[in-house]
Amino acid sequence: MNLKLYTSLHNEKITFEPVRSNEVSIYVCGVTPYDVTHLGHAFSYVHFDVLRRYLLSNKLTVKYVQNLTDIDDDMIMVSKRLNGKPISEIRDENDALLRNDLDQLNVLRPTVYPYATDHIKEIITATSELLQKNIAYVVDGDVFFKAEQFNKYGNLNNATYETLLEKENPEAKQRAKRRGPLDFLLWQKSPADEPGWDSPWSRGRPGWSIECTVMSISHLGEQIDIHGGGKDLLFPHHENEIAQAESLSGEAPFCNWWMHNGMLQLDGVKMSKSLGNLVLVRDLLKTTEPDHLRLYLLSTHYRSDANYQIGDLDDIKALYEKFKVACRNIQNVQKLTSITEEFRDAMDDDLNTPLALQKLSESANRIINGSNQTGEAEALQEALNILGFAFAGARGPALNDFSP
Ligand SMILES: [Zn+2]
Repeated sequence: MNLKLYTSLHNEKITFEPVRSNEVSIYVCGVTPYDVTHLGHAFSYVHFDVLRRYLLSNKLTVKYVQNLTDIDDDMIMVSKRLNGKPISEIRDENDALLRNDLDQLNVLRPTVYPYATDHIKEIITATSELLQKNIAYVVDGDVFFKAEQFNKYGNLNNATYETLLEKENPEAKQRAKRRGPLDFLLWQKSPADEPGWDSPWSRGRPGWSIECTVMSISHLGEQIDIHGGGKDLLFPHHENEIAQAESLSGEAPFCNWWMHNGMLQLDGVKMSKSLGNLVLVRDLLKTTEPDHLRLYLLSTHYRSDANYQIGDLDDIKALYEKFKVACRNIQNVQKLTSITEEFRDAMDDDLNTPLALQKLSESANRIINGSNQTGEAEALQEALNILGFAFAGARGPALNDFSP
């Protein structure tokens, strides 16, 4: 295997080698299921699905863990707004909608799909250990991590402590109680009218980042190969995860390949509920075949910001139809290795799906106009299968295979 993957930790593409030679461990940050998910989530999860499928095509075993953050400020806010509707019901309803979207897009189900609320005991244990190691402190029922004491804090963002202070920080809660401006909550005391679990410090609930650290260690071990998520999670969430994991295990690096996908915008504007400009997968799928939408999502490189505009799907329809027609020409002969090599060269370069699709498009042209070589259609179909297209026979939920 000659795969190079870009890692935000070193800001360069590095030849991929798993920590354990026989199994690749991947943790991808999941959603907080307090509301409907949109095309931006599909962009992220389809690309990580292709990463997984590409590793599998290289004869590797992959353990893919993706969590659900089912306790957090937003979940509590929605529950209150809905007159105390149980958080587990809100979670299950929104998760079912997301799952249905991703199933239709033929995204393989995660190997493990942990819920934060199923890991409270381990989170309390991890928080106790960090207190024992004196890299955390308690203030009136809240437990904080001393960010300044972790000397690599900021490395992932290529930032100094001072420049981090200028960044927007959604985890900077309880300012008055914190000793350092970048310290973050491991455990927070719950008000009487909000959910909480008993702990040595207070009846409370976990901070956001410790949840991912604990779920990652619980299901994948102290060191993992690939950690994925949107680039909006680079700070502070992923910076915190490194600080917590390496402080707990004493092993470094916690993870070598930090893969961050770009953000999806609508007509140049960030998609957000507050702006009312969400594009929902299930709306698009009313008029668009799921493989067609998958093709659209893969036509942008995962690290680039994608800009969805009405009409984009029409623009890519001809390519989609061309692939389907070309695949009908397979005769089950030996596949043409030169096409496979062109495809793999593009994918080996940090999963360059736009270039891979361009090469496959040229191949499909030759197949359709009859200038192809023997075995070219077979090679094309195999490549499209690796990219997860159900029409090319890629296994997955779209073909009723719900196994991970
Ligand atoms: Zn996370």
